[in-house]
Amino acid sequence: MKEIFLCAINNILSGNCKEDCKFCTQSVRYRADIERYNYKKIDTIVNEAKLARSHGALGYCLVTAGKGLDDKKTEFVASVASAIKSEVDGLNLIACNGTANRDQLQYLKDNGVDSYNHNLETSKRYYKEICTTHSWEERYKTCLNVKEVGLDLCSGGIFGMGENEDDRLELIKSIASLNPESVPLNFYHPNPSLPIVDNNITLKDALEIIKISRESIGEDKLLMVAGGRELMFSNNYKDMFNAGANAIVIGNYLTTKGDQPNRDRDILDNLGYKVASGCQR
Ligand code: SF4
Repeated sequence: MKEIFLCAINNILSGNCKEDCKFCTQSVRYRADIERYNYKKIDTIVNEAKLARSHGALGYCLVTAGKGLDDKKTEFVASVASAIKSEVDGLNLIACNGTANRDQLQYLKDNGVDSYNHNLETSKRYYKEICTTHSWEERYKTCLNVKEVGLDLCSGGIFGMGENEDDRLELIKSIASLNPESVPLNFYHPNPSLPIVDNNITLKDALEIIKISRESIGEDKLLMVAGGRELMFSNNYKDMFNAGANAIVIGNYLTTKGDQPNRDRDILDNLGYKVASGCQR
């Protein structure tokens, strides 16, 4: 029976980012109507991690808004990671905090972080159209730093932001060149406050992206459908898994609501999938 891995996300520092990524409601430039807050309390995060674990999550992603790590943020994420590791068993901890150098990543690793998420977002060519405040090359470099310190790399992208078919193939090729342990595929969720008003992706395109991604990264890696899953696949989960996905994000996303974790588990049961109980693949 095919096993599906569940991951959950905690947005531990939300909004107020000065960058201009056109797909992101956390940029202050677009005044999206989202919750913005400074560092969450560590006790609250630990309790939320326990809840996610009780719903079957094996991966737990600590996300901060902003371009990248600085000393304060690194210290905070490290403290959160170490608190979760000492109080919750069986969670693979992923940090997702933007641009990072090797020293910062090593410090996170030393404090219990297992994996670092940094998405390439789109092709090198198209990136200039969706962000002007930092470069694609900088993103690729952070991914290389992750590998150099021996953290697992989680790197994927967002599809449907106006890119063309070649951009999609280029993005998948670039992701595969990093040989990441896990690859999150996001499907753009339009928001009226954002400059990218619509998404240019069909269900057929999305399934093809999953199929090509699986062929490119190999059978032994996690291929996760993350943001936009409900919008894109709500009645087609069987096709989504058949195309090669073997992981999903449960609960809420960064700034959009997801389905209830119990509903996702029921769907998996009804389709005959087992929720994975350990990270060995
Ligand atoms: S850097 Fe991150 S948080 Fe900031 S706008 Fe871009 S994607 Fe959003």
